Amino acid sequence: MFGVVPKQLWSRKIPADDINLCSWKMRCLLIEDGKRLILVDTGMGDKQSEKWLSYYYRHGEGDLIKSIRAKGFHENDVTDVILSHLHFDHAGGAVKWNSSKDKLQLTFPNAYYWTHSSHWDWAMNPNLREAATFLDENLKPIEDLGHLKFIDKQEGYFGSNFDFIYANGHTEKMIMPVVKFQGKKLIFIADTVPSHAHIHIPWVMGYDVRPLETMNEKVTLLEKIHAENWLMFFDHDPYYDICTLEKTEKGYKPDYAGGLEEYL
Ligand SMILES: [Zn+2]
Repeated sequence: MFGVVPKQLWSRKIPADDINLCSWKMRCLLIEDGKRLILVDTGMGDKQSEKWLSYYYRHGEGDLIKSIRAKGFHENDVTDVILSHLHFDHAGGAVKWNSSKDKLQLTFPNAYYWTHSSHWDWAMNPNLREAATFLDENLKPIEDLGHLKFIDKQEGYFGSNFDFIYANGHTEKMIMPVVKFQGKKLIFIADTVPSHAHIHIPWVMGYDVRPLETMNEKVTLLEKIHAENWLMFFDHDPYYDICTLEKTEKGYKPDYAGGLEEYL
């Protein structure tokens, strides 16, 4: 999760256990906008084999469907699922087994599923690094069932409350939605800055296909987020949903860091 950064440095921010694992979230964002109910990312889901799931030590109380229902919605209410990118920890929850476990179906059967056309092509013809994270069973059913949409081909669909910024450092054309929220802007910054511990520019993940581009993207984005006082939403931070930024002599650091609901 920290690429070439020495463990002595990163483990002060995010501790590792005795087998060198850290605890991370797969945080998704549900947005109610007029008649639309928009979900950004879906976590890893639970349809993989026991063996495969055992590599990732899923733990904790978090559950996407329970969280949606706790807010008074149902998965059938979701109109649009925006997949920031198609790595398994973001797209796996998009598709699930039917009750007899012999057929894959959409977790959000009434939703369009949005990705970027270049990212879809990238995932369908994966490079050696990413081949193990673009799983057919997470992606093919979306296309086969006719729910696949390309965000770059239908500009304006989401209306004036949304902007989309694309990053190419973590993977090809990752989508970072920016949504107007309570007079501010909130950016789902996805894996460009997956946690508060990744704000420092050179702290990028070993998974990134173009780490130097991630650093450049962070320079530009963090400057904008600070200047315009945006909220930055973390997909993997174990502690914080969001933060705002403060500028110091050593670079940016979190100003408010905590829960989204507490911030309101
Ligand atoms: Zn991720």
